[in-house]
Amino acid sequence: MPSAPEKPLYIKVNPRDNVAIVVNDGGLPKGTVLADGLELQEHVPQGHKVSLTDLAQDDPIIRYGEVIGYALRPIKKGSWISESLVRMPVPPELDELPIATKVPAPQPPLEGYTFEGYRNPDGSVAVRNILGISTSVQCVTGVLNYAVKRIKEELLPKYPNVDDVVGINHNYGCGVAINAPEAVIPIRSLQNLAKHPNFGGELMVVSLGCEKLHPTMLVPDVELNEENLCWLQEQHGFGAMVDKIVRMAEERLIRLNQRKRETIPVSELVVGLQCGASDAFSGVTANPAVGYAADLLVRAGATVLFSEVTEVRDAIHLLTPRAANEEVGRALIREMKWYDDYLARGGVDRSANTTPGNKRGGLANIVEKAMGSVAKAGSSPIAGVLTHGERANKKGLLFAATPASDMVCGPQQLACGIHMQVFTTGRGTPYGLAMAPVIKVCSRNYLKEQWPDLIDFNAGPIATGEATIEEMGWQIFHLILEVASGRKTWAEHWGLHNALAVFNPAPIT
Ligand code: CA
Repeated sequence: MPSAPEKPLYIKVNPRDNVAIVVNDGGLPKGTVLADGLELQEHVPQGHKVSLTDLAQDDPIIRYGEVIGYALRPIKKGSWISESLVRMPVPPELDELPIATKVPAPQPPLEGYTFEGYRNPDGSVAVRNILGISTSVQCVTGVLNYAVKRIKEELLPKYPNVDDVVGINHNYGCGVAINAPEAVIPIRSLQNLAKHPNFGGELMVVSLGCEKLHPTMLVPDVELNEENLCWLQEQHGFGAMVDKIVRMAEERLIRLNQRKRETIPVSELVVGLQCGASDAFSGVTANPAVGYAADLLVRAGATVLFSEVTEVRDAIHLLTPRAANEEVGRALIREMKWYDDYLARGGVDRSANTTPGNKRGGLANIVEKAMGSVAKAGSSPIAGVLTHGERANKKGLLFAATPASDMVCGPQQLACGIHMQVFTTGRGTPYGLAMAPVIKVCSRNYLKEQWPDLIDFNAGPIATGEATIEEMGWQIFHLILEVASGRKTWAEHWGLHNALAVFNPAPIT
């Protein structure tokens, strides 16, 4: 383990904390004496919590300066606080939250930062030059995938300025209660995906012919005709379907290929933040470093989105005071309430979020996970709130409501118009998106050594004291600008991307 610190090391995040987490790879054995004299009563695994004081039954367990749980039985100083010893607190009451009471003062603007991107016909910008092919229903996916394979093999080499051809395949469109109140969420999301900025203003739609999501519902403000819509049920056979899609694609590839990168101020960039496969280090290294980079982006005038309602819910009392005004605070609470009700209808609560891997990584429950997760959002005022699938409409730090599921948060943030995503991970995931680059930031040195060809940035040196959050934050900021300018991420290098699991809380019929 080349990067493991030789001496026993733990991290206490906040002076109020009565627990710390073990840094060393493989954990630390019973009898280890730490620098401050604390002696471990038992083996404590890496990333897991050790008690810094004697705790009585029902005493609060404090990490990040917040109560993450209560002791289920007395716990001796120096003991491992495993998940089974922690009772989860109730979530903050939504009716009693302070709003806009601690709005952070604006930080000095960062001037002069730019990236090399594309200017779209409508004035928006892009970081990739992609042909996106929209679909109104999953039924067309097989045909479209066949056509996309042909386009990539036969046409794409002729148009070297085009980065990729992406079929926007999804599971919505038919067999759904399209008039259900909540159907507005998948429909709005698909409408915004069809017009993603990385598609350069080019649009074409492949439809079946009998689906509920009629193409005029998918792109209501576009005049659909022979030039931009292919109805499969009107074509004479499979070959004709594929030929038509390929022909429509080539017209657009010719135009996209003429685009050139130009210098664009960072203020036009929209960056999404997400975490997945988190561990106890995520909230100490990767998320705070990304949070620092998020603050730099905001200071440069950019738009930054953080999301994942179930990972924000238990930290909401720390976020509503940062709302820029009463309206933003109320909107934050509205999104929390909506999700509480959504989960309750399914017979669960936000505690259904944590995974076995989170727990093995040292996260006892959703409260501890949330405290680490919101570190991604940095320290800027929260300037606005987007509901599910809504396009970002202002600068600064925005909360965009999405599920926390990696495969759903990704497409939902894309619908909000992110040009790229920064994704933090502790346990590791090869996650990627087809429509936008994903920068993967890991929380521990070990993961970067294990997956050097999947992880783009290692924030682990923060845990071992070899780098500061500020240093790593600046490096992530510069990496974001490089990737926006065309540098490929590992996921792009290998062509890795997950399905577009668009959020549909409405009934399937
Ligand atoms: Ca996630």
